Amino acid sequence: MAKLIDGKKISQEIKDELKEKVASLKAEGKTGTLAVIQVGEDPASSVYVRNKKNACAYIGIESLAYELPENTTEEELLKLIDELNEKDEVKGILVQLPLPAHICEDKVIQAISPKKDVDGFHPQSVGAMTIGEKGFLSCTPAGIIQLLKRSNVDIEGKHCVVIGRSNIVGKPMALLMLRENATVTIAHSRTKNLPELCKQADILIVAIGKPRFIGAEYVKEGAVVIDVGIHRDENNKLCGDVKFEEVEPIASAITPVPGGVGPMTIAMLMSNCVQSIEED
Ligand code: NAD
Repeated sequence: MAKLIDGKKISQEIKDELKEKVASLKAEGKTGTLAVIQVGEDPASSVYVRNKKNACAYIGIESLAYELPENTTEEELLKLIDELNEKDEVKGILVQLPLPAHICEDKVIQAISPKKDVDGFHPQSVGAMTIGEKGFLSCTPAGIIQLLKRSNVDIEGKHCVVIGRSNIVGKPMALLMLRENATVTIAHSRTKNLPELCKQADILIVAIGKPRFIGAEYVKEGAVVIDVGIHRDENNKLCGDVKFEEVEPIASAITPVPGGVGPMTIAMLMSNCVQSIEED
């Protein structure tokens, strides 16, 4: 039976550490605000934005919410980002994705000052991560590194297979595992013999974006399995990319969905905000 990697508990530990840090920064006169921008009323985005505001309140930093109508133009959004880039008290700027189709996400991401890029999506942040320089790390992959470290999973020298090569999960995940001295393989939609390849992994990180796709035939006995996926199944129940019941008896450790990777993303966003306040 696998050890359950408890993202809820670990994310709470991180938020409590950050709460203390925020209090000591306040005592030194260092404060800051996270600006969160949402365009349109996508219900899932509204939940994420609410959770981010609540997390700010919990650790003791201010948040400013901009709820813009669906028909906001790209120009208007870029102008708001410019204004926030100039505001001293704003230490982090987050634009909730996805944006409506008429707005170019890349343009918006690149408009955010890298000094305030707490999502870690700006090409400068990605470049800094790639060459091991200081900068904001992409939150979900950084959260997975914390899950592994705080669960005492050795990464160095291990063979890690990451399934997925998206800019927000797969690619930064592979780079961070490389930085931790894992031997990394990236699998994607054109990869051949996926089950055989995955079966070689000591650590299997699944960000394939397909509900309950990865079953026992993909997992080596004793592997650590991290499930990044979040979906609603036919009964409206949350599930991941992994067939948990089938994989759990084979793995040595596994993240559940919900309560695994999900809560870590917001904890790491808060960590980036605190880093921004600290370094300013
Ligand atoms: P995505 O759809 O952008 O990327 C999926 C990746 O899987 C692609 O790179 C693709 O090459 C690969 N893929 C697709 N089909 C494949 C196949 N048959 N064989 C091998 N590879 C295949 O998704 P994403 O944005 O990277 O997100 C992945 C999952 O993680 C989604 O379920 C998403 O909801 C979830 N997610 C969770 C969090 C969190 O905080 N927990 C954050 C971001 C994303």
